[in-house]
Amino acid sequence: MHDALPPQLHVFVRDWLSANHIVLKSADGHVLIDSGYGRHVPLTLALLATARGLGDEPLAKLVNTHCHSDHIGGNAALARKYRCRIAVPEGEAPLIERWDTRLLLLDYCDQTAERFGVDEVVYAGTTHVWGDLEWQALAAPGHDMGALVFFNPEHRILISGDALWQNGFGVVLPPQMDAAALPATRATLEMLASLDARIVIPGHGEPFCDVEAALERSLRRLDAFEADHLRIARHIMKAILTFSLLNYQRMSLADLPAYLARVDLFREFNAAFFRLAPDDLARMLVGELEKAGAVSRSDGWLVPA
Ligand SMILES: [Zn+2]
Repeated sequence: MHDALPPQLHVFVRDWLSANHIVLKSADGHVLIDSGYGRHVPLTLALLATARGLGDEPLAKLVNTHCHSDHIGGNAALARKYRCRIAVPEGEAPLIERWDTRLLLLDYCDQTAERFGVDEVVYAGTTHVWGDLEWQALAAPGHDMGALVFFNPEHRILISGDALWQNGFGVVLPPQMDAAALPATRATLEMLASLDARIVIPGHGEPFCDVEAALERSLRRLDAFEADHLRIARHIMKAILTFSLLNYQRMSLADLPAYLARVDLFREFNAAFFRLAPDDLARMLVGELEKAGAVSRSDGWLVPA
């Protein structure tokens, strides 16, 4: 799959805690898209220093598809090391400038990122030359209402962030929390379908070519979310808890109810949708994640499966 991409473009496929990095090399200055999670900064720096990355050459610019912790966590460290410019989507710039940890879903979800400054704003509808390739910045609201995707018409390559994965898309808020999120997600998937992309480089997972099937799966998932808002709420809580578990690597089952009562997202979603005692909420989430094969229990600890 990687050899279907132009040679000056390299994808470092990461995991669910850190978004993928896309390196676009050019004599005019190398560009990197997305920087992973803060905990992974040492690995991010090491990968970028390899020959497939930057080697010992400078990084001119870092661009973010959107400003969630798993995409911006390395921004500050990369700016320190490379003195690169940082470019964020227009809708995210005000949140970064005032470091709005709730809207950035940082402490709201018990996630962290080192604060960084914005040097450039990327506007939807503009075209950029990165890695000697033309990229259209397209608004892709839904998972993140300020997100952008980047499309290269020549090779029909789509850098989709968390707007489209091979199997779904990043969590979307239920209408009770943001009435615009689900309709925006549908409009974004329809817009992405109209691009006729040949290959998608997602924010998480390997690049893929079966774009039509991926869009179809995402639309079916969206149908299910639209039909059942409790399902969206459970999905978000499970996704954020899984993320916390990847971050901490293990969590005490005995402390989990208190954790769910302490972190705003779990407390607010529970109050809005389930009204369960923290013990029962923990039992529901762990039970469903276990059934899905995402977690297991070991000696009083919850661990990623
Ligand atoms: Zn992500």
